[in-house]
Amino acid sequence: MIIILFGPPGAGKGTQSKCLQDNFDFIHLSTGDMLRQAVHDKTPLGQKADSIMKSGQLVDDETMLGIIKEKLQSLQGKKIILDGFPRTLKQAEGLEKTLLAMGQKIDKVIHLKVNDDELLARQNYRIEGSKESLRSDDTPDTLKKRLEIYHADTAPLLPFYQDRGVLYSFDGMATMEDVRGKIYELLAEYRT
Ligand code: AMP
Repeated sequence: MIIILFGPPGAGKGTQSKCLQDNFDFIHLSTGDMLRQAVHDKTPLGQKADSIMKSGQLVDDETMLGIIKEKLQSLQGKKIILDGFPRTLKQAEGLEKTLLAMGQKIDKVIHLKVNDDELLARQNYRIEGSKESLRSDDTPDTLKKRLEIYHADTAPLLPFYQDRGVLYSFDGMATMEDVRGKIYELLAEYRT
């Protein structure tokens, strides 16, 4: 059982994933979290990813596919949420191929729709609120780059998953509780 939480940076994917992890026993796989851990641990991957992440660019597809493939193979048969992966068509195709070989597939893609103005406003609010909890890539310039890349490279995955009949789009501008309610409704059958 594999779900993708999909949407632009700051749409609330991480927050919603954590709720699903706590209430539905999903395992939350965030490629951003994995990369941040690697940066923190100063592994070769972390050393490579650090400057890429700070500039808002994407780590290369081959590296990301390698990381996620290894994780999925070690978690066969578990309920998984993918957060922040796939981000390019190449990653989506590679993921599909990997899952096919494992006799699995993407069950649902949950798309949180939020427009750019709202994402920029949310960041402003974070910056004005508490500087302490800000990530090093949470700057106006980096967000602009991340949004540009989202529209160019990641948004084209929407028709890809629409074609496969697994895409569910929700208004991510609604309150966090409303969005959570919609997601819980969609996934009711998987609640433990
Ligand atoms: P996130 O926490 O998902 O917003 O990711 C933070 C940063 O990690 C992104 O801006 C990228 O630089 C990198 N990253 C995370 N996931 C991926 C991915 N699937 N492909 C390429 N880069 C990624």
